[in-house]
Amino acid sequence: ATPLRMRKALGRFASGVTIVTTAEVDDGAQSCDDAAVHGMTANAFTSVSLDPPLVLVSISTRAKMDARIAETGRYGVSILAGDQEPLSLHFAGATHKPDLVKFVWRQGVPLLDGALVHLSCRVTDSHPAGDHTLHVGRVEELWYDDGRPLVFYTGSFRALELPERPEQWG
Ligand code: FAD
Ligand code: NAD
Repeated sequence: ATPLRMRKALGRFASGVTIVTTAEVDDGAQSCDDAAVHGMTANAFTSVSLDPPLVLVSISTRAKMDARIAETGRYGVSILAGDQEPLSLHFAGATHKPDLVKFVWRQGVPLLDGALVHLSCRVTDSHPAGDHTLHVGRVEELWYDDGRPLVFYTGSFRALELPERPEQWG
């Protein structure tokens, strides 16, 4: 399986899109300094365990984020809403739109305003895996809302149709 065939095949696994964020904060002061935040777009995000509550993000060893998570030991996951494609392009370095970026701070973890779901996680294990690192995080707090998600499929962003009535969304 060449890298190109891997991308072609795995691009057929439809996913949501997240922004992973982290920041060095003084736990005592719970300071919320936007300038200390680093964020990046990630779709290699997985729910791992309910009890204890664990998720993982798979981060390229070439991404700045990999070392940043190793330093801070914490990360946030914002699952993007259907209208947040511009943010996913910005945090992938594909476009430069810093004016769109607004962080909200929850328990010392920065998250993206307007996302469908916010998770604040503490790293429990980091496993080297080829050219990525799997950072397993314990979910300390979470928040969620209803709405259309952003979907990534075959290298493009798509809309997900939902029933008219929000009570049928799950
Ligand atoms: P950079 O490339 O330096 O930063 C990313 C971008 O975020 C830059 O434009 C930067 O200006 C901006 N940014 C960072 N912090 C802030 C801030 N505080 N305020 C405003 N802007 C800020 N890579 C993976 O390793 N794993 C994945 O699962 C993954 N999934 C992806 C899914 C999709 C749909 C896409 C499009 C890309 C994905 N990538 C993934 C690739 C990854 O998003 C890029 O390689 C990214 O550029 C790596 O980020 P970096 O940490 O090296 O930082
Ligand atoms: P693409 O065709 O590269 O992505 C299709 C699928 O291939 C992704 O959903 C993912 O499952 C896999 N994939 C792609 N690049 C990978 C990588 N470096 N490591 C592990 N799996 C990877 O989609 P695109 O629109 O060309 O992507 C835009 C950029 O974002 C590219 O540079 C791509 O490499 C990067 N990306 C990285 C990852 C990742 O690191 N896990 C995931 C998605 C996209």
